[in-house]
Amino acid sequence: MKKNILIVIVMGISIFACHSPKNETKVSNPFFTDWTTPFGVPPFDQIKEEHYVPAIKNGIEQHESEINAIVENTGPATFENTILALDKSGELLDKVTGVFFPLNSANTNDNMQNIAREISPLLTAHSDNISLNPVLFKRIKEVYGKRNESGLDAQQIRVITKYYEDFVRNGANLSEEDQTTLRGINEELSKLSLQFGENLLAETNKNFKLVIDNENDLAGLPSDVIARAANDARASGDDGKWVFTLAKPSMIPFLQYSEKRELHEKLYRGYFMRGDNDNEFDNKEIIKKIVLLRDRRAKLLGFNNHAEYIIDVNMAKTPDAVYDFLHKLWDPSMKMAKADVKEMQNIIDREGDSFKLESWDWWYYNEKLRKEKFDIDEEEVKQYFSLENAKKGIFYVVENLYGLKFVKRADLPVYQEEVEAYEVQEADGTHLGVLYMDFHPRDGKSAGAWSTSFRDAHYKDGERVPTIGSIVMNFTRPASDTPALLSFDEVTTFFHEFGHALHGLFSDGPYNRTAGRVPRDFVELPSQIMENWAAEPEVMKVYAIHYQTGEPIPDDIIQKLQKSATFNQGFNTGEYIAAAILDMDYHTTESPQISDIRQFERSSMERIGLISEIIPRYRSTYFSHIFSGGYSAGYYVYYWAAVLDTDAYNAFKETGDIFHKEYADKFRTLLETCGSDEGMEIYRKFRGKDPSIEPLLIKRGLK
Ligand SMILES: [Zn+2]
Repeated sequence: MKKNILIVIVMGISIFACHSPKNETKVSNPFFTDWTTPFGVPPFDQIKEEHYVPAIKNGIEQHESEINAIVENTGPATFENTILALDKSGELLDKVTGVFFPLNSANTNDNMQNIAREISPLLTAHSDNISLNPVLFKRIKEVYGKRNESGLDAQQIRVITKYYEDFVRNGANLSEEDQTTLRGINEELSKLSLQFGENLLAETNKNFKLVIDNENDLAGLPSDVIARAANDARASGDDGKWVFTLAKPSMIPFLQYSEKRELHEKLYRGYFMRGDNDNEFDNKEIIKKIVLLRDRRAKLLGFNNHAEYIIDVNMAKTPDAVYDFLHKLWDPSMKMAKADVKEMQNIIDREGDSFKLESWDWWYYNEKLRKEKFDIDEEEVKQYFSLENAKKGIFYVVENLYGLKFVKRADLPVYQEEVEAYEVQEADGTHLGVLYMDFHPRDGKSAGAWSTSFRDAHYKDGERVPTIGSIVMNFTRPASDTPALLSFDEVTTFFHEFGHALHGLFSDGPYNRTAGRVPRDFVELPSQIMENWAAEPEVMKVYAIHYQTGEPIPDDIIQKLQKSATFNQGFNTGEYIAAAILDMDYHTTESPQISDIRQFERSSMERIGLISEIIPRYRSTYFSHIFSGGYSAGYYVYYWAAVLDTDAYNAFKETGDIFHKEYADKFRTLLETCGSDEGMEIYRKFRGKDPSIEPLLIKRGLK
């Protein structure tokens, strides 16, 4: 596919593509040129907002004509003329969306959001046109049918199978009548999910706030929490008062520190009754419809239930395997939670109160318990974790494991002045890829932390085109006289995102459909394993250096940090597993026509024996991961990956060398080849055996 197409903008809106340089009269769009920047990184300094829409529209047209060429071929369908052609198609579109979407998260504004709204329906329609193209599917099916007799290698057969399965999972194999039904179900489901999310947003942000107008009711709250509440009050028109909302950064400190027990109940009730208030924002009827429609869709596609359909392509493979796994964590977490309840009840009794601990009391008494057992001074800890030192720590770990070097490159264009660009080199100086790091919050940057890429590693004309990755965080900025100092949680996040970036940098494989592509319950293995090195005392002594005195972190702080990792795990694991089981119960039920959502949830939780002092992390009516996000029958994946990462790290630990050469090489191979086989096979090749849950139980103090 030729890239050097010139675009001429005529009268501001009409666009046509033209191959003759003579006609280049007005704006030239960088997306239609080869990038001559170092390593071919996006020329951020030249890309303007007005370039996106024409480039995306043109990218869609090009992709359509590539698909048409496959479909219009009247000769027999082959691996080359169908699968490979499909796999290599859409290059321009990838080039544009690969820049637009990461920037729309890290550096957006009203214009960018408008562009996103404009292009999203175009992209959805475009991908539907491909996945429901009957002639295209017929040709894929033809290649699939003779895959074992055409002299193809294992990777070719794998990529054929993946494309075939993608199409089948989208309904390509159904009769026309069933396809119409399926489309109807999908449309209905997307409306319901949207409505679920909108109701939840209203219930969270609009329908409830705790307004405090009596200063005495602020008793126990730290000054920064009070200041924030005063700010929130101003913003919501309650000047001179204090407002607490159901957003966790507002609610949790209140539950943790406020001395007003009746207000704990009021606020927490507001939280856990969201979507369940029998008002116009109630989500119970929506859930009933969603569960029923998902069940119908699964049956249409040949599965017994929605969970079977979803998990079929995951590592776990079956709902039974997921239930087994969740139950192994369930009993020890409840045992630990019950012991914590007892200790917290002792505090209540000792203080002369006569009530029984309730769910809304948990944070307050847990905070007291934590103070009793070990008190960490967050401010003191931060002095050892300057951003620069954390960065050195990561580079140290990655160099010891894989020999990689990170060379800062001030000459690479960036999309914001403060973003740092690094060339990643192998031990012998060979180029591996590029990594951008974007550390601090800004207007126009989403909350949280994530890893993304401007270009994924792929092969073009037989040559490997390396990854251009990016990690984005929201760490506290440096002040005038102090560098950026991170909490240990932030350091862990940094290592975590770096792990995702390594997955992208190493990922290799001849086909776009499979290279680096892993099931959802595998995704967090490469990231979570890195957190282990961050917390290793031997590593901390290297990078956790006091920013003023230059002293390494003292042993007693390391010990406190290690102990705090197991504190309150009965609650954390328990509320998580409870929600994960609730998710599975909805999507495996044999009676998907649910008559009473509250009753369904209650009996689900009674069956596993959830104690009354804990509420599932998400009750049904605000479980947006599964009813408006993409995690239905998939909330379990976080802990599934935690088993893998802890077991994988244990492989290093067992040797007594956390940088053990042979395991480092094997783990690198896992990251490179993870798309070339099923997740569990890839894991076994690294570990030599199945993952064990024991190391996780020990790490979380559950054993
Ligand atoms: Zn992650």
